[in-house]
Amino acid sequence: MEKSYPECLKCKIGVLIPLSDYGREGSSILYKAWVCTNPECGYNLRIDNGEISRGDVIRKTTK
Ligand SMILES: [Zn+2]
Repeated sequence: MEKSYPECLKCKIGVLIPLSDYGREGSSILYKAWVCTNPECGYNLRIDNGEISRGDVIRKTTK
């Protein structure tokens, strides 16, 4: 299996996979966010307007 995605630096179990998004006017934004494949880790990186923001834990909404 070829290792094509970077290893998660937090848990070192999962890998970071890129997520794409769609911007205004339907243009696609490639690799806007990266998330760890390990669900117990939840590490994620987002790129907004050229700035990197990081969240170690994805915020859960509780009702
Ligand atoms: Zn991880």
